[in-house]
Amino acid sequence: MSFARPRLGIGLTPRLLTAQRSTALRPALVAYRSIPSSRCLHTEHLERPDRLEGPVSIKSPAATGTLTAQDEPDKHTDLYKEGPSAIDKAVHLFFFTEILRGMWIVMENFFRPPYTIMYPYEKGPLSPRFRGEHALRRYPSGEERCIACKLCEAICPAQAITIESETRQDGSRRTTKYDIDMTKCIYCGFCQEACPVDAIVETQNQEFSTETREELLYNKEKLLANGDRAEAEIAANLHSDHVYR
Ligand code: SF4
Ligand code: SF4
Repeated sequence: MSFARPRLGIGLTPRLLTAQRSTALRPALVAYRSIPSSRCLHTEHLERPDRLEGPVSIKSPAATGTLTAQDEPDKHTDLYKEGPSAIDKAVHLFFFTEILRGMWIVMENFFRPPYTIMYPYEKGPLSPRFRGEHALRRYPSGEERCIACKLCEAICPAQAITIESETRQDGSRRTTKYDIDMTKCIYCGFCQEACPVDAIVETQNQEFSTETREELLYNKEKLLANGDRAEAEIAANLHSDHVYR
């Protein structure tokens, strides 16, 4: 009874089903698989009918059956004929040559300079486009670059930026609040790409882990301080990358 049949495994179940079917079904399945596929009517195949049929249809010169080794005496049919002999294998086994070759590789790497570096005392190179901690930049006069256009806030896919602005007495717009929730930021760099005055940038600083979540809620003062500290590095990176922007 089919409902009482144990399901031993996903791959095994169809075999069990086939084995337990009636004897009339099995010859029918075999006969179905033996039916040759219909011929392709494409023009290029009709010109080269031999392409249609695989190795099964290759006939011996006498056209008496499939191709055999006797029909091609020059062709090597023994795949292991060109391999090492039994004596070669015995010599390698007896003299431990594989162990010696392995030990040679160990010795080579023992005297090779290490691939690792002693971080944080040594640091690897960083691309000028590396996207690390955020910073707000100033002009050389000390004036903030940000003009509160809010393009960075609009484009941020993580909605990590919050900006409030006001118009100053001289008519310029400046931010009164510029917050970045660094716990939301995915360091995509969209904000610095959108900024028309290169005010918000991502520095190469990647070492700003904190002990509390609140320390990763950056405000304007924190961002401006980051910019003041890394301005030389930021300017050099932007200059090296300006041909691509
Ligand atoms: S790097 Fe991306 S996710 Fe982070 S503040 Fe900028 S735009 Fe938002
Ligand atoms: S940082 Fe740039 S994009 Fe964002 S509000 Fe300021 S000027 Fe606009």
